[in-house]
Amino acid sequence: MTRHTVQVATLGFPRIGPKRELKAALEAYWAGKTDAEALLSTAADLRGQTWARQRALGADIVPSNDFSLYDQVLDLTAMVGAVPAAYGWGEDRVDLATYFAMARGSRGDDEVCAHGHVHASGEGTPAMEMTKWFDTNYHYLAPEFTADQLFRLGSTKALDEYLEAKAQGVETRPVLLGPVSYLLLGKTRGDAFDVLSLLPRLLPVYAEVLRSLARAGATWVQMDEPCLVTDLSDEAKAAYDHAYRVLTDVTPPIKLMLTTYFGALGDNLDTALRLPVHGLHIDLIRAPEQLAQVASAARADQVLSLGVIDGRNIWKADLNAVLDKVEPLVAAGRKVVIAPSCSLLHTPIDLDRETVLDPEIKDWLAFAVQKVAELAILARALNEGRAAVKTALDASTASVASRRTSLRINDPKVQARAADSDPALASRTSSFEIRRQVQQRRLNLPAYPTTTIGSFPQTVEVRKARADHGKGVIDDAAYAQFLREETARTVKWQEDLGLDVLVHGEFERNDMVQYFGEQLSGFVFTKAAWVQSYGSRCVRPPIIFGDVSRPRPMTVEWWRYAQGLTERPMKGMLTGPVTILNWSFVRDDQPRSTTCRQIAFAIRDEVTDLETAGAAVIQIDEAALREGLPLRRADWAAYLEWAVESFRITASGVRDETQIHTHMCYSEFNDIIQSIGAMDADVISIETSRSKMELLDAFSDYRYPAEIGPGVYDIHSPRVPSVDEMSALLTAAAGKLPADRLWVNPDCGLKTRAWPETEAALANMVSAAKVARHEV
Ligand code: GLN
Ligand code: ZN
Repeated sequence: MTRHTVQVATLGFPRIGPKRELKAALEAYWAGKTDAEALLSTAADLRGQTWARQRALGADIVPSNDFSLYDQVLDLTAMVGAVPAAYGWGEDRVDLATYFAMARGSRGDDEVCAHGHVHASGEGTPAMEMTKWFDTNYHYLAPEFTADQLFRLGSTKALDEYLEAKAQGVETRPVLLGPVSYLLLGKTRGDAFDVLSLLPRLLPVYAEVLRSLARAGATWVQMDEPCLVTDLSDEAKAAYDHAYRVLTDVTPPIKLMLTTYFGALGDNLDTALRLPVHGLHIDLIRAPEQLAQVASAARADQVLSLGVIDGRNIWKADLNAVLDKVEPLVAAGRKVVIAPSCSLLHTPIDLDRETVLDPEIKDWLAFAVQKVAELAILARALNEGRAAVKTALDASTASVASRRTSLRINDPKVQARAADSDPALASRTSSFEIRRQVQQRRLNLPAYPTTTIGSFPQTVEVRKARADHGKGVIDDAAYAQFLREETARTVKWQEDLGLDVLVHGEFERNDMVQYFGEQLSGFVFTKAAWVQSYGSRCVRPPIIFGDVSRPRPMTVEWWRYAQGLTERPMKGMLTGPVTILNWSFVRDDQPRSTTCRQIAFAIRDEVTDLETAGAAVIQIDEAALREGLPLRRADWAAYLEWAVESFRITASGVRDETQIHTHMCYSEFNDIIQSIGAMDADVISIETSRSKMELLDAFSDYRYPAEIGPGVYDIHSPRVPSVDEMSALLTAAAGKLPADRLWVNPDCGLKTRAWPETEAALANMVSAAKVARHEV
């Protein structure tokens, strides 16, 4: 039997640059400080470095066209000329101005909200809609299609970048988002129609691009079809058949690596295997179980690309364990490529930049660069035998063993507590109706009580003071004094405005997850481990490496200070366990549900400490609960069960008289409304102003039992809504839900707003509540 040489492929590399060079170049360009030439030359430098670096690390198959100035889905929209009419594109090729108008709105000033989502604001053509890329924290610009949508070549980027690499002596495998996933990720405009009906019009543009690449000398193209791991209709499966019959039939011919990631092919396996493509990439991190099935069912001449290194997380791989799985296939004569599970876009670039990270923890980690190096070791072991790389394999085994047994990770007390399955831990003492009466007696609030979601404007001064404190320019005492003054001013200001339930303003918090992660054990933070969230925006997610506990109270002192300034109830403000989990890199050595449960107990301790300190109202934000939903419907119930249970553990340590609020800033509840109800919060505040209260239908149809604060003020825009406008929203809400269960609040936190509009809008909001009270 012939043994084929195993090659290393990467499917995509972070493009922001090791020092976020692309971010700096983009922002300078947008600000008008530099010209297009400077931006494009930085971009070209980054591409060149990235290709050279991957080759030097031992990658045999290196991608091109994985780079993007903003977003790879937007690049595809440009490639196929699907620029929405509003952007006035008529030229031959989509130019930079049109490209960035689609990305950022024609005035380039779209608003970013408290959790980093972009929303249209002001005049001009707004940006295209941004949506989360599958279950990652990356956001793409959703294509928009009309029923009469036409496609034509609008960008030669794929060819240009292939040729650019070739000129540097690097033969690449261009990446394209495949046509079926591209359509399925789009939204329709105008009369409803099936996006897949556009496929016959779309395919000629793909064919044209493939032909141009083949003529330029490319032998393979990586066709990303991540939708193959999601629930597909029969029509979508048929679309795959049609698309790949057409695309494998172009002349000159080119081989396609059909690339799937983020989950198992599952019931789409037959579809994927039926397509006449030359190679298939599967994710063996998210779905290790599919290897045997795919290996036995794939055609013998098909190349199998095995995603054996985690492209979504930052842990070193257990290399010997990977070899145990792959060696039998290679020995059996399979053509095998090894690769990360998905594009490395979702990992930070280089661990070597972490100069102050704890060395024990650092030894457990691998970022994009280290992951390519791991693949190179695996390939040598597969091609030359494990003995050829003994030292490296031993080191991998030692790191994995150290992580498993480290005392830093294992805290028996935390483990025992999380293992306690007493259902009482996740239940309040009494039912909502009883709690409600006790709470009403204690709080004595008017009808339509007013409150805010937590943060107040994080002004330039607030951010500067934080940065100065970080740099040591101002000392702890001076910084604390500054924060106290901001807080006191904000409390007084809310009293003057006439709000009923106050907040302290969250000035001491950099970020709603980081602030807690920094005070919990089991978390570590990096200096430079940036991951692209969208466009030029990057995040530095915390790393949850060990058992999570709360060594000491985190927010009680700030709460106490703020409550001491007023007679009105001051809300305790916390981030919930599910949100902390979903916005972090999570340990992969135990189920996510276990880690979430540990965080839940840690936050529960904070909740009970706030209660002991005297807090009558405590808000536990779960902004990212919905984001964590699995890609497959069949997996939703299990996720929701442990997510809701974690929230309930957090909220259930308090007495009946303590009112628990939660907050969620999104607009789709229909499909998860029962789980939202099962969280058993006393009050929930949600985003509704832009949907004109329509989403309250979900709550009213389901008869949501508790109190609701439907946001009446869209905080994503500097626009100040009038009293009448907010009154109309409250009337609409009262038409759908019992008026005596309604609260009055904005859609989300006010941290991205400025004070003048905040003051005007909240004054109007309080007036609207007063108007509503007269009508009760
Ligand atoms: N309490 C947080 C704030 O007001 C909530 C933010 C969010 O939901 N994204 O900033
Ligand atoms: Zn919010």
